[in-house]
Amino acid sequence: MISTYIQQLVNYGLDTGLIQPDDEIYIRNQLLMTMGLDSFEEPEGDCYYVDLESILTALVDDAVARGVCEDNSVARDLFDTKLMGVLTPRPSIVRANFWDKYDEDGPEAATNWFYEFCQDADYIRRYRIKKDLKWVTSTPYGDLDITINLSKPEKDPKAIAAAKLAPQSAYPKCQLCMENEGYAGRMNHPARENHRIIPITINDSAWNFQYSPYVYYNEHCIVFNSEHTPMKIEGPPSASCWTSSSSSPTTSWAATPTCPSWAAASSATTTSRAATTSSPWPRPPLRRPGPSPATRTWKPASSAGP
Ligand SMILES: [Zn+2]
Repeated sequence: MISTYIQQLVNYGLDTGLIQPDDEIYIRNQLLMTMGLDSFEEPEGDCYYVDLESILTALVDDAVARGVCEDNSVARDLFDTKLMGVLTPRPSIVRANFWDKYDEDGPEAATNWFYEFCQDADYIRRYRIKKDLKWVTSTPYGDLDITINLSKPEKDPKAIAAAKLAPQSAYPKCQLCMENEGYAGRMNHPARENHRIIPITINDSAWNFQYSPYVYYNEHCIVFNSEHTPMKIEGPPSASCWTSSSSSPTTSWAATPTCPSWAAASSATTTSRAATTSSPWPRPPLRRPGPSPATRTWKPASSAGP
């Protein structure tokens, strides 16, 4: 039975274009290794699946039952991210595709592609962010946007107990450092095997573009300094310490207390993605469709752009 779920995850990778048909056997073996298994039984018939969440739940339950994964909410998230990291192309490949898209179709197409990719890789967990609650309420001070974010998981008591025992580490220095890309995480730091970052240049200095996994705003994106720089706010808003809500018709600025060096992100790439965000699973469950659109043909790193 567990072989069926492994093949379902392989099929999900093929359906989303995260992996290519040439990768199938290799990826399956990598998943077996991650699961602590040394054999695979070819499932009979087609390996259909309902959605990614149900595949990952089944695989994590099996790993917990065999003692490969601890049974608490944080350990489960660490483990399913490790599984998704197996499917996620390496940074050089992702960046090359981003810049190819940027050069051929422009910045909006490139960022749209990257946002979809981050969701397919489960760095942004569609099935969690769709539970977020958002509404507008009028107050004496004007309309107030209220959001209740449910995508940043609450720790269960077992996870809190395990985190207390976990050794403290200063690596990565914070959750917005480059060193998070591919990091396995630990009880007090989230797993980021499926996290990918696009380096960019601002004012001749090295910065990086990524999306937030918790999506406090529509298509919540972040630009952060390549050097870990403690956040210091003084004087009028500058482009180096603020984050913007890309969903708002005019760029709105909000201080972000949890991070050291956020920067403004343009709101130029927004509205066309709303449909995808609000309806995260429009696709029928596919087993193995034909080749994905050309947008998902990974190219080697040597074609990387600026
Ligand atoms: Zn940092």
